[in-house]
Amino acid sequence: DAKSEGRSTYRFFEPQMDQRLQARRALELDLRGALEHGEFELHFQPLVNLTSRKIICFEALVRWAHPERGLVPPSEFIPVAEEIGLIVPIGEWILRQACSEAMHWPEDISVAVNLSSIQFQRSNVVRTVSQTLLETGLPANRLELEITETVLLQESDETLTSLHALRALGVRLSMDDFGTGYSSLNYIRRFPFDKIKIDQCFVQDVATNKDSLTIVHTIVALGRSLEMTTTAEGVETQEQLTMLRAAGCAEAQGSLFGMPTPASGVAALLQKPNPVPDIRSGR
Ligand code: C2E
Ligand code: MG
Ligand code: MG
Ligand code: MG
Repeated sequence: DAKSEGRSTYRFFEPQMDQRLQARRALELDLRGALEHGEFELHFQPLVNLTSRKIICFEALVRWAHPERGLVPPSEFIPVAEEIGLIVPIGEWILRQACSEAMHWPEDISVAVNLSSIQFQRSNVVRTVSQTLLETGLPANRLELEITETVLLQESDETLTSLHALRALGVRLSMDDFGTGYSSLNYIRRFPFDKIKIDQCFVQDVATNKDSLTIVHTIVALGRSLEMTTTAEGVETQEQLTMLRAAGCAEAQGSLFGMPTPASGVAALLQKPNPVPDIRSGR
């Protein structure tokens, strides 16, 4: 309302706000040089199949090795990169890097790459993906693209066309962080996803909170009826895993199986015979 607007306008002139603005401008400036200075790197986190107990995919997660600040998490710079449009070249670098890295892995291991909704709005994402696959030699069926509900919010025919075109290339589409956005169940039905990733906020207390457990069961049932796989994100404990398995969740990801690691750590993870811990039946 007008009153709170007035207050925030006032705050704008406070020295504290000025400092924040300056910090933000400095971050923007550093971000503009980060790509050419080679400051980005990818870490990889395993996704495991809960039936075969094997690693089936690694999700690429970007890190910014800032010369003074150290490793900057994506939550701090992705939103800024999106705002100033830099996410397009950064996203193209991430995709190429992830696909090239996956070429060193066994043929049955896929790579998952996060796409920002800005990449759909401000670039030809279909062309970027098809060119990157050609140039790196990665077969399309080894690439999964993770997209959040914000992409669907635009609700444009163009987005829908792009998603269908991506799928026609042979890549798989995952709905990331499902349950946290604003999209209705009607949306998900209309979009061609192969996989739903259950957000970690539901997974976190699935073993202690009845509502979260109900939500997980509901998402798995939804996935099943729409012929989509379900992956649980942020699985940290054996108790959570037991509940997720009982709910019929097909795949999982989280610290219980391994946190994101630099590319050099992937081989060691693949050598572990059973990344999915045993479940003691308790009966
Ligand atoms: P996301 O795609 O949902 O990625 C999962 C996040 O959960 C990652 O955080 C991962 O490190 C974290 N995580 C995984 N397992 C656990 C666990 O057991 N416990 C906890 N507490 N956390 C866990 P990260 O790497 O900081 O990434 C955060 C978000 O930043 C991502 O969420 C994604 O939305 C965005 N992001 C990361 N990399 C990229 C990228 O290359 N491109 C784009 N567009 N966005 C990215
Ligand atoms: Mg993701
Ligand atoms: Mg996620
Ligand atoms: Mg997330």
